[in-house]
Amino acid sequence: MIILVDMDDTIEQLLRAWVNRVNKKYGRQVTVDEVTDWNVAAPYPGLTRKQVYDVISEKGFWKTVEPMPGAAEALKHFMDAGHEVYIVTATNREHLQEKMDEVLFRYFPFLTWDQVIVTTRKQLIRGDVLIDDGIHNLEGGNYRKILFTAPHNRYYDAAAHDMIRVNSWEEIVPVIDAMGI
Ligand SMILES: [Mg+2]
Repeated sequence: MIILVDMDDTIEQLLRAWVNRVNKKYGRQVTVDEVTDWNVAAPYPGLTRKQVYDVISEKGFWKTVEPMPGAAEALKHFMDAGHEVYIVTATNREHLQEKMDEVLFRYFPFLTWDQVIVTTRKQLIRGDVLIDDGIHNLEGGNYRKILFTAPHNRYYDAAAHDMIRVNSWEEIVPVIDAMGI
């Protein structure tokens, strides 16, 4: 199978690092669970969208982003089982190098640049399955859809939209293994 995998908040914990950074910089106590939609600035009244979004461009930010537990082991397992794994990410041009060096290749050293696809139009990519926390990346795609639970998608009815909701990489592995049979 060709397994397509999102990066932010699917194989790493961008939101957690982002909220920590904004909290530290502006003396707030917001938790990840308070980010209930795609707008990370919403739980920060008094801060501008720019103030909240600029922190991810600060030097050294991506060094603080940690992998999602079990993600590396799972991707390695899929590759060892003979599947092709591609990271499909809508990464901004400005963040690309730091993000790949400090997160992807640091925690997923068995992946190469040939397995990275950068696009905001994931529906144009051909694969058997996409694992993603972004509903907008799964809807309309010509692949089987695994929705990785995140605070912003927790009230979405995945089953009604032909998606399989998972809460961890531990849950993903048997789902993918069953598809491969
Ligand atoms: Mg994502």
